[in-house]
Amino acid sequence: MSDHESVRHLLALSAAGLLDAAEERLVREHARQCARCAAKLDDYATLSAGLSALPCPLLLPDLLRRTNSVVAAELDRRQGAALAGGAAVFALAFVLVIGLTLRIVGGDTAALWWLVWVAVSSVFGAASALALASRRRLERNML
Ligand SMILES: [Zn+2]
Repeated sequence: MSDHESVRHLLALSAAGLLDAAEERLVREHARQCARCAAKLDDYATLSAGLSALPCPLLLPDLLRRTNSVVAAELDRRQGAALAGGAAVFALAFVLVIGLTLRIVGGDTAALWWLVWVAVSSVFGAASALALASRRRLERNML
């Protein structure tokens, strides 16, 4: 990468005062020798000064609290989804192992009753989990 190319992407950061001393020195030395970069640096400096002169908008009083709440809710949702996925895989393996064991020990009827019992209890368990998740969502939205 040429000196011009490597400095060109640093010009805006230089105008905003965001470079460390070594990068700033590199930009300044190059700008003294390169008219295009010097002009671009002046443009960015003018733009940066104009942006700095603009009034800063007032933050809503509870913006930070609401943002933290949304971020925490999303993190909670992702952790809950991962936990639910892991629990479902474990439950499926457990049901299959017990079903196969019952089929070997007690025959097809015992395995069938096991599967019926598992299906009914799974439906009630899933309904309970959905109701709890819905309630938590409602509580979170009221905050
Ligand atoms: Zn240049």
